[in-house]
Amino acid sequence: MSVEVGVELLTAGSCTHPEHVVLRNRRLRPLRFPALSALLHHPTRGPVLYDTGYGERFREATARLPERLYAWVTPVDLQPSDLVEHQLRTRGIHATDVEHLLISHFHADHIAAMGSFERATYHFLEGAARPIVDLGRFAALRRGLLPALLPRDFARRSRAHRPSHPLPVLPEFGPLADLFGDGSVFGVPLPGHARGQMGLFLPRPRGRRRPLLLVADAVWTRAAADVRPHPITRLLFDDMRQYEATRQRVRASFDATLDVVPSHCSDSIATFQRGETA
Ligand SMILES: [Zn+2]
Repeated sequence: MSVEVGVELLTAGSCTHPEHVVLRNRRLRPLRFPALSALLHHPTRGPVLYDTGYGERFREATARLPERLYAWVTPVDLQPSDLVEHQLRTRGIHATDVEHLLISHFHADHIAAMGSFERATYHFLEGAARPIVDLGRFAALRRGLLPALLPRDFARRSRAHRPSHPLPVLPEFGPLADLFGDGSVFGVPLPGHARGQMGLFLPRPRGRRRPLLLVADAVWTRAAADVRPHPITRLLFDDMRQYEATRQRVRASFDATLDVVPSHCSDSIATFQRGETA
């Protein structure tokens, strides 16, 4: 019997994109995309975060050119009460209580507040950090990466996981990474959108009937799982062929007996949140 983990889905800020970037053949109208941060309550590891959403450092990191282009292309709405640190405090959790931060991928809207968690070990899949660490400022920016968001002691506190754990429930995704070695939280390889992108699979979320699969940006929304993305996204994505293979797997998972939540899908997040109180 695997360990039960409590899950709360929070959103920390949002950005606006024209809809046609996400779905082909839609009219051009700005849509708001929330930035997900999942708070896990692990019985022995304490509060664990999966991504942080936007954070105050995003403003600092995009204050000057060329990084300022990032904030122009995707205008960000972030109120002080949206900050994940603030939302944790309202639950009696201080940033130093968080000893584990799981990172789906290093796009700025997923890691902007990582530097606020000074005691956390950063967990991600092998290879995921290479572009943000190795690429120069301009090449990184083109891929949606802001190296200024990494804390100085990032390398010392980071732990790269190699997926090696087969799981019969999700065979199509290949081996998973058992992040805490107790069968409670698995890292799921979702390559294509970003190098080494990691989804999260929770076989037994506390108080829920179904397992939970968080798919990060494998698809931006539930509707986006059914269509090929706009060609402009090729500029941003790491590998289009892998993106398509991952998209097909995620699309199939929506039909399985799982709760599936993409990081920027308001409807999927709201549906899960309603289930928490039902
Ligand atoms: Zn992304």
